[in-house]
Amino acid sequence: MSNLTKLTLSAARDGLKTKDFSAVELTKAYLDVMEQRRVLNAFVTETSDIALKQASLSDIKLTKGNAGAMEGLPIGIKDLFCTEGVRTTACSRILETFIPPYESTVSGKLKRAGAVMLGKTSLDEFAMGSSNTTSTFGPVINPWRRKSNFASPLVPGGSSGGSAVAVAAHLALAAIGTDTGGSIRQPAAFCGVVGIKPTYGRCSRWGIVAFASSLDQAGPIARNVRDVAIVLNSMVGYDPKDSTSAKISVPDFEMALTRDIKGLKIGIPQEYRLDYLSNEISKLWDDGIAMMKDAGAIPVQISLPYTKYALPAYYIVASAECSSNLLRYDGVRYGLRIDGKTLDEMYKKTRANGFGKEVRRRILIGTYVLSAGYYDAYYVKAQKVRRLIYDDFNKAFQNVDVILTPTAPSSAFGLNEIDDNPIAMWMNDIFTIPTSMAGLPSLSLPAGLSVDGLPLGLQLIGRPFDEETVLKVADVMERSIDFKEIPSLLRD
Ligand code: GLN
Repeated sequence: MSNLTKLTLSAARDGLKTKDFSAVELTKAYLDVMEQRRVLNAFVTETSDIALKQASLSDIKLTKGNAGAMEGLPIGIKDLFCTEGVRTTACSRILETFIPPYESTVSGKLKRAGAVMLGKTSLDEFAMGSSNTTSTFGPVINPWRRKSNFASPLVPGGSSGGSAVAVAAHLALAAIGTDTGGSIRQPAAFCGVVGIKPTYGRCSRWGIVAFASSLDQAGPIARNVRDVAIVLNSMVGYDPKDSTSAKISVPDFEMALTRDIKGLKIGIPQEYRLDYLSNEISKLWDDGIAMMKDAGAIPVQISLPYTKYALPAYYIVASAECSSNLLRYDGVRYGLRIDGKTLDEMYKKTRANGFGKEVRRRILIGTYVLSAGYYDAYYVKAQKVRRLIYDDFNKAFQNVDVILTPTAPSSAFGLNEIDDNPIAMWMNDIFTIPTSMAGLPSLSLPAGLSVDGLPLGLQLIGRPFDEETVLKVADVMERSIDFKEIPSLLRD
């Protein structure tokens, strides 16, 4: 069968069951396309030998009738998830040669469910960024191009840019990412695919290279809502190895797609109507609201007044946590070491050479806000603001079931277009960060094209541990939007 890589994950799952093709055939089809599209630089490490071995085992299980929920389905794994015996770099020079002796809980669960690992996908160094341009292995390229300027490459968004491109360019059926302030949702929006960040605590963080532990959360990226629901089912669950993982029952997310959203109240936060929001994004949002109304839902104006403080507070909290988490890279225990005459000199040389510019910037900010003289003024204040943001959402959710906003304030931008402007880069997450600060589940859905032909996303935010409502609403919207566009580089 040809065109295997055009199938959605659920269609591939059905095809494997009915033996239309084998897991080995499906995997080989993906490995071929990965090779053809290496210019996109989506994968840091390709694991074709492992993939083929896993696929043949899957074929045996499919024949015997003891297949797992992800049996034989080829996926990409963000190179922030430790994979046993397979290099895990966080796209940093400091971990360039690190081979973990253990497997992260989430990737291990997917493996046990039968998923086939095609390789490790690229990210911004240590997941800090919104463009996937800070990887030590070079930038990832978005398969979409502007109509007005087909020649110039665009960023895929970040930090999970490699995972989003792997899905958008049909290099994998799905891929997993992590989201600290928007790193699943913003690249999903920039690449025209679906991504969900579940509630903080839904997925175990064990074995994921830590950026900001109170914010980091794993989640899937795939081509449609059903597909993310399927992958999410195999990622979640309580893990005693992560003290912040939630001991809460896990529903079947695919079963949540009932198509009925009649009477659901959809919150529209007035504070997200930023003065500088472009007309096309405002219109996209209005169209989304209208669509929900047609489906029987009720739009309700809500207010999230502390939203405007979310971004500055996030960069204090996230930087503080990163400065502490990244202390472990000292040239002694992990990865790179550059020798010096004294122990201090060895630390300095190793860290100065091992970390890139953005990571060093965050470590400096984090160390500053945690220092004795500034702790109360910055860190403690930011934590208080975080609580107020959470309270805002909590109050809103007394009246509404789900909240609808744009995912990002723009479409994908050009490679190197805003690299020298960290504030402009940080502004990309203006709509995704409040949700992260509050730990809520949220999903980005491709909702239309910009005038220049680039995908734009809408974001749905749910109550804590109510991924089901988020997925159900997203599924209904997906059906009415009927987004069929394919990336510029994939059109023949
Ligand atoms: N862009 C944000 C940052 O740079 C979010 C990154 C993320 O979610 N990992 O921190």
